[in-house]
Amino acid sequence: MPALRQILIVEDDSALRATLAEQLLLGGEFRADEAESAAEAEAKLARADARYDAILLDVGLPDADGREFCASLRRAGRQTPVIMVTGADAEADVIRGLDAGANDYLAKPFRLPELLARLRAQIRVYDNTDEASFLIGPYVFRPSLRLLQEPARNRRIRLTDKECAILKHLYRAGGMTVPRSVLLGEVWNYSSAVSTHTLETHVYRLRQKIEADPARPSLVLTDNGGYRLDATILAPAER
Ligand code: CA
Repeated sequence: MPALRQILIVEDDSALRATLAEQLLLGGEFRADEAESAAEAEAKLARADARYDAILLDVGLPDADGREFCASLRRAGRQTPVIMVTGADAEADVIRGLDAGANDYLAKPFRLPELLARLRAQIRVYDNTDEASFLIGPYVFRPSLRLLQEPARNRRIRLTDKECAILKHLYRAGGMTVPRSVLLGEVWNYSSAVSTHTLETHVYRLRQKIEADPARPSLVLTDNGGYRLDATILAPAER
């Protein structure tokens, strides 16, 4: 089972919000968190453990114009993909939404497969962009560059593809344990030829590179048949 991507639904229509959340969950690919106003969304985004892969943002919110809210997120340096949901397919909505920094838009009513396709596309782009960077303990993790930067010691650590993929999946799990079998499947694309020993070898090398004391890891922890990152040291890096 791949790690679930977390979507923040910002929508004041409670029936629509609930339906969207339920539909997103059904596919087994996404998790959903909900906010009924810009203020609530703001509060959720400000939480230290907030990790959203995309934001679904209604244009007409009770306390803000969604486009202005989106613009304020961008001004604050937040690069999370935003898909704007507009009322009518009024062209002005669309253009102003994109001007405000939204990545894409959908006009109500929309079909769920369309929404899922847009979400997947934006998350894929974001995963591969240089914009995405995350804090893991003392490091700034830049998956697209396969790089960990340690600003305090002015050090850069190059990661292999596999090391980078392992870290990415652990980061996405937000401190939850990812079973070895899941990591194997995700990182090696469910190739049956690969054994857990291979995974353990890559984790060993990763620890040699990033842990202060690789024999007593404090970042990549072994736990209950899998690995996890210490949740208290994770955060999206603001730019
Ligand atoms: Ca609305």
